[in-house]
Amino acid sequence: MRTTVEKETVIVIFGATGDLARNLLIPALYQLCHAHMLPENVRILLYARRPYTLEQYLTEVEQSLRAEGKKLDGWKQFTPRFVAYVQGGLDEKSLEQLNAWIKANAVFYLALPPGVFAHAAELLAQLGFHDETHGYRRLVIEKPFGYDIESARALDQQVRAHWREEQIFRIDHYLGKETVQNILVFRFANLLLEPLWNRNHVEHVQITAAETAGLEGRASYYDQAGALRDMVQNHLIQLFTLTAMEPPSSLVYDDLRTEKVKVLKSVRPIPRSAVNAFAVRAQYTAGVVKGERVPGYLEEEGIPHNSTTETYAAVKLYVDNWRWRGVPFYLRTGKRLSADRSEIAIQFKTPPLHLFRETPLDRLEPNWFIFEMKPSEAISLVAQAKKVGLELTPRTIVLRAAYREPHQEGFDAYTTLLLDVLEGNRQHFLRFDEVEWAWRVLDPILKAWQSDDSPLPTYPAGSEGPEEAVRILDSEHHRWRPLGG
Ligand code: NDP
Repeated sequence: MRTTVEKETVIVIFGATGDLARNLLIPALYQLCHAHMLPENVRILLYARRPYTLEQYLTEVEQSLRAEGKKLDGWKQFTPRFVAYVQGGLDEKSLEQLNAWIKANAVFYLALPPGVFAHAAELLAQLGFHDETHGYRRLVIEKPFGYDIESARALDQQVRAHWREEQIFRIDHYLGKETVQNILVFRFANLLLEPLWNRNHVEHVQITAAETAGLEGRASYYDQAGALRDMVQNHLIQLFTLTAMEPPSSLVYDDLRTEKVKVLKSVRPIPRSAVNAFAVRAQYTAGVVKGERVPGYLEEEGIPHNSTTETYAAVKLYVDNWRWRGVPFYLRTGKRLSADRSEIAIQFKTPPLHLFRETPLDRLEPNWFIFEMKPSEAISLVAQAKKVGLELTPRTIVLRAAYREPHQEGFDAYTTLLLDVLEGNRQHFLRFDEVEWAWRVLDPILKAWQSDDSPLPTYPAGSEGPEEAVRILDSEHHRWRPLGG
């Protein structure tokens, strides 16, 4: 149940001039306000290094959002929520300015580059902003949480030296998406699927996050990260654990997160010597995306001409437990692919077809169950039925329930998650052991790729990805699902 926030609450957005703040956080807060879900006593304070007046900042953001086609009918009612634009860096003197506004509850949202998360968290605590005597104090940390397992542990130690675990909200915005939250409801509020959700009936699972977009001005970040760190370690691993986990005993945050960690602990370790059988990476070359010619990754502005950063990653994981032993989970993501498609697709085993021998039905497509996230949000079941007519001819039918088509507005993931932060609901935020185990699962791949100097496979922009991606498929009957649907 959504509750109201009683005390005066200030949301401080650090890095207010950045892409995340301007394009995702401000629109999410606007959406909450417009839907009358932003409690009356919540105020927003913008903090960044560049000089702006509050009016200038808000006008600029409003104009750029309108230029993108966002509807902002309630913008006038929203702007009074902003108390100030404070110019300052991450130093004591600048941060002390916050004392003028923060009296009771406060949320500190670090929309900052990952390299300064620890410093910001430490400094805020040194100045006493973590002290909860007069109200709650919450720290929101964005992904990526660390660069590898060692850096993630170091970052966690630095943050937790000052902040209690209950104060830390490690955000992975995929967990705020409608369809992702629906995985829980659909899996555990229906009897239908649960008996089939195991190795006896599931052939394999494909989890995809494909983008047509390129770097979108984030070249320096992306070239340091690559597809595995940027997407697989966090978003895709979250989708994977939600799909594979056992029913939690409750939706209280720790029960859910404990089940997700159990899945990661059951993943068969990938031997470093056999990484090629479990993972594929590649980089896009020039091509045509949505009818437009686009440059290759190495020609992108800000990318070194000899970069070996992967823009595509596909990984195969096995969960060695009673439910999933032997069922491959294929995870793939990439930039500049042929379509924007995110989904979890479960392929069921083929039923015995003896009955249909010598009819056109003897080569049936298997059933698929799909949680679609992009371009639409829907659940669908791919099944076989008879074509109307005298012949026993099969046709594939799709039973589909959409809860949001691309043109329909709905709540953005950040909207849901910001409300969760205000309400102290940590169910959809990451516990550190989840982050750590996700790194552990992928660490052998990262290490093997770091030391591998063989030529990187490529794929033309606008394609389905590299040909090499079939290498990790377990059986000749497994095929990557077409991105066009
Ligand atoms: P940007 O580079 O666009 O913005 C970063 C912000 O941090 C700017 O306001 C910048 O200020 C400020 N900043 C940079 N360096 C420092 C510093 N040393 N001290 C103080 N302020 C600094 O990044 P994004 O907004 O894209 O990303 C912010 C965080 O959110 C990152 O951790 C990113 O990984 C994460 N994230 C971003 C997503 C996105 O879609 N953008 C999605 C998911 C996560 P200035 O303008 O003065 O340089």
